[in-house]
Amino acid sequence: MPEGEKNRQVVKSQSSIGRREFIGAALGGAVAAGGLLSSSAAGRTATGVYREEIRTPIVARYQVVVAGGGPGGFIAALAAARSGARTLLVERYPFLGGNGTAGLMTCYNGFRNQRPPEALQTVKGIPAEYVAEIVRLGGVADADSYAREFQHDVANGDIPYCVGFDPEAAKVATLNMVKKGGVELRLHSWVVGPMLDGSRVTGVIVESKSGRQAIAADIVIDATGDGDIAARAGAPFMSPARKGDRMGMSLMYRLGGLPPSIKDSYGGIRIGDRVVKWGPRFGGDGLDVENLTRAEVETRLELWDRVQTMRNKPGTESVYLMQTATGIGVRETRRILGEYVVTEQDAIECRRFGDVIAISSNPMPSYHGKRFFFNHEGFDIPYRSLVPKKVEGLVLTGRCISSEQAPFQSARSMAPAMAIGHASGCAAAMAAKGNVPPRKLDVKALQKLLLSQNAELRMQQRVG
Ligand SMILES: Cc1cc2nc3c(=O)[nH]c(=O)nc-3n(C[C@H](O)[C@H](O)[C@H](O)COP(=O)(O)OP(=O)(O)OC[C@H]3O[C@@H](n4cnc5c(N)ncnc54)[C@H](O)[C@@H]3O)c2cc1C
Repeated sequence: MPEGEKNRQVVKSQSSIGRREFIGAALGGAVAAGGLLSSSAAGRTATGVYREEIRTPIVARYQVVVAGGGPGGFIAALAAARSGARTLLVERYPFLGGNGTAGLMTCYNGFRNQRPPEALQTVKGIPAEYVAEIVRLGGVADADSYAREFQHDVANGDIPYCVGFDPEAAKVATLNMVKKGGVELRLHSWVVGPMLDGSRVTGVIVESKSGRQAIAADIVIDATGDGDIAARAGAPFMSPARKGDRMGMSLMYRLGGLPPSIKDSYGGIRIGDRVVKWGPRFGGDGLDVENLTRAEVETRLELWDRVQTMRNKPGTESVYLMQTATGIGVRETRRILGEYVVTEQDAIECRRFGDVIAISSNPMPSYHGKRFFFNHEGFDIPYRSLVPKKVEGLVLTGRCISSEQAPFQSARSMAPAMAIGHASGCAAAMAAKGNVPPRKLDVKALQKLLLSQNAELRMQQRVG
């Protein structure tokens, strides 16, 4: 820890919250303080109230702290460090990669449109360097089940619509890049809330085997996927519809022992005789621990039976359940309300924004029940959608940015999520170094910085 144990200060809970009240439902009571009330927990009857007073040591200070090491987070941390900010990346799991590795979703989609027009690779910059590192490690999959009309040679840096990958290679690639990029790392650490000074986020509170600790930061990036930090800081957010178009959860899994007679991708992402496949689905709220518990129990039991059925089928007796995801994959939870909400029409009509910081060309996979392909080379993600309303000192990244549900379906894919991460990291570094609130950042300067780091902002097509 840079400032060491000897320099510890103490933060008395979150300053704006004071005493925290835990509504003690047996499982998953909502945290009443800080504005977070999970929809399903909100209606539950409390069995009592437990008051606790917490004094938390401040163990370190950084210019930028990134909460969450998924595609949106680890790229943001790399970008922040590359842009000159002392940066810490905090992750609850013992490895990086988020849903790509922990969720075993081993296919980075959305580097370009899946169908023509797909001439423009819409995600470049640090995410493209990351793909090159996976290629260097020999970690690109042999085949995947996504149809596309054109081939692009990923080994030579021409990145196709999607890149199937070996999750273990991805774990190593993320670590190699983070080490080389000068990002400091804290694994095994849950970020349980923001440090707050009024409406300004001044750091994060983490819980780990080392106990409860506070880490001060000039700027925090919420890369939790779920927008945990923003919500707990009091930012308003949009929740998925309870019924209808909420994207469900799936338990991903890996089969080993595919027989040589099967030559294709076997409906998944294949490397040799191993294939990652989409497993049982589950509906409901990915922020409700009771629902998540049920999801794990039901899908894991169902999956075991599913694989036994495969093994009973002539020709596939050799397959076996090699691995399941660390946790069920949650597609959709909060979308934080930002200074701009990307709309369905923005996505469909390919609207351009003067404050573009990334592009999403991935299809919307369940748009009114169907995979919707854009007839253009992607829509702009404006910087304003990374800046939460009502909260200072915080930048959003990944799937929790400010967006309606339809464009969310597109930009949540991991290639655009990484491009957004690239922008979030650069923005956070600029804000921290210049002592400027993210809301007031000079966006032209941000775009210039992103372009200097090879991000794709479609500037040439913009001229004239
Ligand atoms: C079943 C499924 C299938 C999908 N299929 C595809 C696909 O084929 N291709 C594609 O490109 N995308 C796919 N996606 C979408 C994609 O995986 C996610 O939208 C994307 O990973 C979002 O990136 P993120 O960085 O915002 O969040 P995540 O990948 O979820 O990363 C968030 C990270 O933050 C950590 N974290 C969360 N909360 C905390 C906390 N409080 N403290 C510390 N750490 C925390 C998590 O452990 C995780 O590492 C799929 C998603 C699911 C669930």
